[in-house]
Amino acid sequence: MPQISVVVPCFNESEVIETFHSELLAALDPTGESFEICYVDDGSGDGTRDLLKKLSDGDLRARYTSFSRNFGKESAMLAGLRMSRGDAVVLMDADLQHPPALIPRMLELHRHGYDQVVAQRDRTGEGMVRTALSQAYYRLVRRFMDVEVVDGAGDFRLLSRRAVDALLTLPESNRFSKGLFSWIGFDTVSFSYENVRRAAGQSKWGGRRLLNYGIDGLLSFNSRPLRLAIHTGLWLVLSALAYAFWIIANVLANGVDTPGYATLITAMVGLGGIQIATLGVIGEYVGRIYHESKHRPHYVIRETDQSAAPAASDLSVLSAVTGPHEGRR
Ligand code: UDP
Ligand code: MG
Repeated sequence: MPQISVVVPCFNESEVIETFHSELLAALDPTGESFEICYVDDGSGDGTRDLLKKLSDGDLRARYTSFSRNFGKESAMLAGLRMSRGDAVVLMDADLQHPPALIPRMLELHRHGYDQVVAQRDRTGEGMVRTALSQAYYRLVRRFMDVEVVDGAGDFRLLSRRAVDALLTLPESNRFSKGLFSWIGFDTVSFSYENVRRAAGQSKWGGRRLLNYGIDGLLSFNSRPLRLAIHTGLWLVLSALAYAFWIIANVLANGVDTPGYATLITAMVGLGGIQIATLGVIGEYVGRIYHESKHRPHYVIRETDQSAAPAASDLSVLSAVTGPHEGRR
């Protein structure tokens, strides 16, 4: 068993994957620990899979799993965690935005007894708008969520074996890792590093995808939006009552004259809006329940280093399509 596993989700990273691999080796070799690198190809269409296959053919410490299509980074991370066998597992991106040179420092902190070591990036070199939006989002999330999520503390982290095992016991199919990491608890320490630009290729996170990710985060960790709907309803009832009393008092004091057209329309439109929004919130939760209740697997595996079509000289490894490590849940 290796001491360290490095889990790397890759989606269309053919431009950087080889550089990444050599930088990672350069960071891991001097530590003198035994390690493995678990690459997960998330259905790339640009030859990333072939590169991974080549890497793992040339080096027993590099292993890979390849998905049948793009299942998203969360699923890729899950697959990587299931593959990993090390006592400490480092999760990182393939685009060199998570500098491999920081790994020894993470290991050092892990040796001091921390179960989660988080490398937290700052926001140097990022657009002003994006920075402002993310900061607003995290303020909102902190207010609404039951678990703590920190700005810049992403997926670049080291987890101890027991933290990984805890993560793997969470079965939900809608995975919001930032929340899950915080949900499992354990002693966590973080240090910050300067944000790095992507080495090559393109970020897969457009504005829309980020927005949806944000909504996911808000909804997947609590039922506070539902609570908020109840509160709004109660306040509305109270104000309607107060208004009714005011009208009655007015009639008693000044005689009967209650022209109400404008008030009526305003109230109807306002209430209608609130009802539709509330229905939307409920619908979103129902949709999630439906989704979870199907119990679909998180991903479908095309091949792994164990199962990949063997070279002509080596037919002995023609075994099951899924590698032995995939059965673990
Ligand atoms: N990634 C993935 N599946 C996806 C999108 C991204 O496995 O559907 C991987 C990607 O290859 C990279 C990491 O997740 O290793 C982070 O992606 P990216 O750099 O696009 O995100 P950003 O750094 O802009 O947040
Ligand atoms: Mg990136």
